[in-house]
Amino acid sequence: EQTVQRIAAGEVVERPASVVKELIENSLDAGATRIAVAIEGGGTEHIRVRDNGHGIPESELSLAVAEHATSKINDIDDLDAGVGTLGFRGEALATIGAVSRLTVRSRPADAASGAELTVDGGDVGEIDPAGCPVGTTVEVDDLFYNTPARRKFLNRDRTEFDHVNTVVSQYALANPDVAVAFEHDGREVFATEGTGSLRSAVLAVYGRDVAEAMIEVDYEPDSDGPIARISGLVSDPETTRSTRSYLATFVNDRYVTASLLRGAVVDAYGGQLAPDRYPFAVLFVDVPPGSVDVNVHPRKTEVRFDDEDAVESAVREAVTEALLDDGL
Ligand code: ADP
Ligand code: MG
Repeated sequence: EQTVQRIAAGEVVERPASVVKELIENSLDAGATRIAVAIEGGGTEHIRVRDNGHGIPESELSLAVAEHATSKINDIDDLDAGVGTLGFRGEALATIGAVSRLTVRSRPADAASGAELTVDGGDVGEIDPAGCPVGTTVEVDDLFYNTPARRKFLNRDRTEFDHVNTVVSQYALANPDVAVAFEHDGREVFATEGTGSLRSAVLAVYGRDVAEAMIEVDYEPDSDGPIARISGLVSDPETTRSTRSYLATFVNDRYVTASLLRGAVVDAYGGQLAPDRYPFAVLFVDVPPGSVDVNVHPRKTEVRFDDEDAVESAVREAVTEALLDDGL
């Protein structure tokens, strides 16, 4: 049975970054306004995600780490309607626990004290009392220690760190109203303030040079096409010095990678960028929920739009307009 679990785990948990992604989504689902992510060794040694969300009652701790346990789907209709919460498969904690040493420590606001539960390579331990603040802390040690083939597949710490950094940055940018702190090997990587300002989140994540060169995008098409609104920040081509492309795109507030969106942004810059310079962009594309398929694959971030051409041209137009408004 544990073998089956371990194989299934590979579908959701590929590397430290995928663990961090699932844990942050759980924190957001729990209504957290502060999330602290700390990792060691690129996340291969240790991952800790702490939040101030609504917590898990002691009586539900065992359920939370059990297979197919989710508190987020009430019936099958929820699935059809596309549940509002980020995670709804009910498998993340169980699968992470199958391939690591997992500790979940939590205290709901109305509980006098907290409780913790450890899962070691799929073996669920006893529930112990734990002194902790309101909210949830999840710790993951020695990821893939019991699946050597997968462990071997992990890259150097630096590469795994880069993947985790991308994930934490994305969620920090997508949720400027949540204070997200990120630490690697005891050093702060960044910390957003959670003031709700996207520009302030960009400042924290990418630094002052980038934040100051950002131009606002706010686009609402007048016809009723497949786009409701496009908003966010893009970099001023004049001041873009980046030799790396930082493009974070979100569809209905969910981080996605779509070459379609990337292409449209790059197109909008036309020949305005110097050779070997790439735009920064943080773009939120809102479409009617029915016109996009976000569940192409549970682990991947690809999306499929019903009307690809219309989305592409709207994004190009939104960015072009913003760059023009800036007096170019
Ligand atoms: P899912 O998110 O798909 O429901 P998970 O395995 O990620 O499944 O989590 C299982 C359950 O544990 C969640 O449904 C939720 O009830 C609880 N849980 C997990 N993480 C947190 C958290 N940070 N705060 C509050 N509850 C949590
Ligand atoms: Mg989840």
